[in-house]
Amino acid sequence: MRNDILDSGFRHIAIISILLISVLILGACSSVGDSDLPAETEIATTVVETEAVEGPALPDTSLQDTPAMTDEAANPELTVPALAETAEPEAIQCTSPASGTPSMMEGPYYKADSPERTSLLEPGIPGELLILTGFILNTNCEPIPNAWMDFWQTDGNGEYDNTGYKLRGHQFTGEDGRYYLETVIPGLYPGRTAHIHVKVQAPDEPVLTTQLFIPGEPGNQRDIIFSEELVIDLQETDDGLQGTFNFVLDED
Ligand code: FE
Repeated sequence: MRNDILDSGFRHIAIISILLISVLILGACSSVGDSDLPAETEIATTVVETEAVEGPALPDTSLQDTPAMTDEAANPELTVPALAETAEPEAIQCTSPASGTPSMMEGPYYKADSPERTSLLEPGIPGELLILTGFILNTNCEPIPNAWMDFWQTDGNGEYDNTGYKLRGHQFTGEDGRYYLETVIPGLYPGRTAHIHVKVQAPDEPVLTTQLFIPGEPGNQRDIIFSEELVIDLQETDDGLQGTFNFVLDED
């Protein structure tokens, strides 16, 4: 009888032990599984995020290129040869003491407060591209730095913009006294040959108001105020028309 009770007790203990061991084993297996799952999940997440970051980068690049190409194609007149802006300054044609550049009437179409810019080119402006460069000099043929220049002119069809500032702009000469202007060959309007109006002023000196003319323009001989002294030197190059004109200012 006592042995039966002992056997029964051992069986219970054995069964409970087996159950406990099973629970522990299952628990261990379960915890191993849990630790693996997040690792796989993390890898999968990383891959997805990497693709998500790299994906949009390609379309962004192509979108940046597209508008620039479209603008250039739609407005070929805006394509300016880089050569003209980077070219070495030409030798200054000046003999001291030099005569001052003649003044000429302002005319009725000047507007103050033009924007500061070296390029007057804008989309849709008719006319043949002209790069105009030169120096502002004193009568000793010395370049004048920081001289103010204000240009205004018609487009290739002889039209002024009197409501806005198309083909109007001012700039200042650099330390070398040189200026650089991107514009178009002006057109004709009744009574006038092609001309570019300009005001030039050395620092703290009087303003010179004058006009520049285009060589070989048939209207020159019919324009009563045309002056050979104010004709630009014009070269037809592979990159387009390049003009030069040096201004000489009588300083006090
Ligand atoms: Fe005019």
